[in-house]
Amino acid sequence: MEIRCRCGDTCIRPISKALKDIELFYKPCNDCKTEKIKKFSPLAEQINLDEIDNHFGSCKCGKRHLDIVISHVLKVMMDEGIKDKKASLRNACVPLVTPGYPTDSIPYLPKDSLVILSNEVDKGCAETIVKEVGEVKGVLKGDLRNTVGIKDSDSNPHVYELLAGCDLRCDIIQTPYGALGIYKYQREIHIEFPKVESPKIEILNKALKYCDRPAVLDCTCGPGTLGIACLKAGARKVVFNDIWNPAIETTLINLEVNGFPVKLSGSEEELIASGDKFEVYCMDIRELANCLDETFDICIIDTFPGVDTTEFVEAAGKLGKKVVVI
Ligand SMILES: [Zn+2]
Ligand SMILES: [Zn+2]
Repeated sequence: MEIRCRCGDTCIRPISKALKDIELFYKPCNDCKTEKIKKFSPLAEQINLDEIDNHFGSCKCGKRHLDIVISHVLKVMMDEGIKDKKASLRNACVPLVTPGYPTDSIPYLPKDSLVILSNEVDKGCAETIVKEVGEVKGVLKGDLRNTVGIKDSDSNPHVYELLAGCDLRCDIIQTPYGALGIYKYQREIHIEFPKVESPKIEILNKALKYCDRPAVLDCTCGPGTLGIACLKAGARKVVFNDIWNPAIETTLINLEVNGFPVKLSGSEEELIASGDKFEVYCMDIRELANCLDETFDICIIDTFPGVDTTEFVEAAGKLGKKVVVI
């Protein structure tokens, strides 16, 4: 399958390349400036915003400290009248670095390595941010407290609004079977902040120990993280399913970039795509049972936080021996 970012640009790269230099990606060079900015004090009282080039100029390595980048974003928001002169870095916006990777110090960002989320920006301001702040590749309007996606077929999906640039991000996820790169259009897929060890992967790892080369049904696969981890772990087959179309779109990208070539099925209605050891569907889990005539060793259910999983577990119970709610 040929893959290309919706924005038409080269945002999607093979994961092996991204992983190669990831340790150095967010590290400063010897010449990088360290500017201490207090998060709770007004920015305008700490640096002279009329002389921004003194503060905001990039190092010759092309990177700037995250706080400097957010200060620059805040300066644009003040100029555009979105924030007042007393605004501080705290609550300026939610920074989502890409690739998302746990670092032990605050990252220094290169070009196009940040998507920001704000409830206050408008389109004009967002376009100026993307134009003037080189590290920012996309601006989303929305509230972090509202999870994006769809809970089940009975509810309406919630998405953030893309105001400017591109919102495709990649999260690097460590698993016992190797690191995965998981791409997502952040306006449509819930936000996960990078952790050294993913609790979801730990639960999955325990479940996989019950069975050698299992057949796995990932009932609510999202961008494909857990199912792809199963393929990496040596599952003999994985069926991916999600009712949310954008989740399936990114599952296909993520299979491909993590080394599992995808063949789109085209004519058949229910099967979206398949590959050497996997199939991909986009259905309500309650209906999926009717079109699969095989039994799985493990069924994974990973829903929105707080969603009642009773019906999911019941439906998955018809398809598999062991149902794991993550
Ligand atoms: Zn893009
Ligand atoms: Zn530098």
